[in-house]
Amino acid sequence: MSDRQEEIGEAQVTFRNANETIQASADSAAILGNVPFVCECPNSDCTEIVRLSFDQYEAIRQHPTRFFNHTGHEQSSVEAGAERIVAVADQLTVVEKVGVAGEVAAEAYPRRS
Ligand SMILES: [Zn+2]
Repeated sequence: MSDRQEEIGEAQVTFRNANETIQASADSAAILGNVPFVCECPNSDCTEIVRLSFDQYEAIRQHPTRFFNHTGHEQSSVEAGAERIVAVADQLTVVEKVGVAGEVAAEAYPRRS
C-alpha cells in the first residue's frame, strides 16, 4: 500500500520544484495580480494553472508536507490515504501529505536549511 503513496509524494515534489522556480523568476514587485503556478496534484499529465498570491504561496510552502492543487484534483490522493484536505477556497484546495507520502515530501523539501 505504501508504493502508491510514495508515488504520489514523488510526483508532487516535482511540481513543487517547478513552482519554486516560477516564484524565484517572478518579480513580486512587478506583479499586481496573482501568480500562475502549476497544479501540484499527483497526476503528472496535469497542466492546470492555479493562481495564488505570493502570500498564499508562502503560507502553504512554509509547511514541508503541504501542497495546493486545482479543486477536485486531490480526490485520488485522498482516497489512496496519501493526504488530507486542509483548506478549500474557490478553485484552490490545500492538502497535507500524510504517512509515507508525507515522509517523501518532507525528505525532498526544497527549503531545508
Ligand atoms: Zn492537477
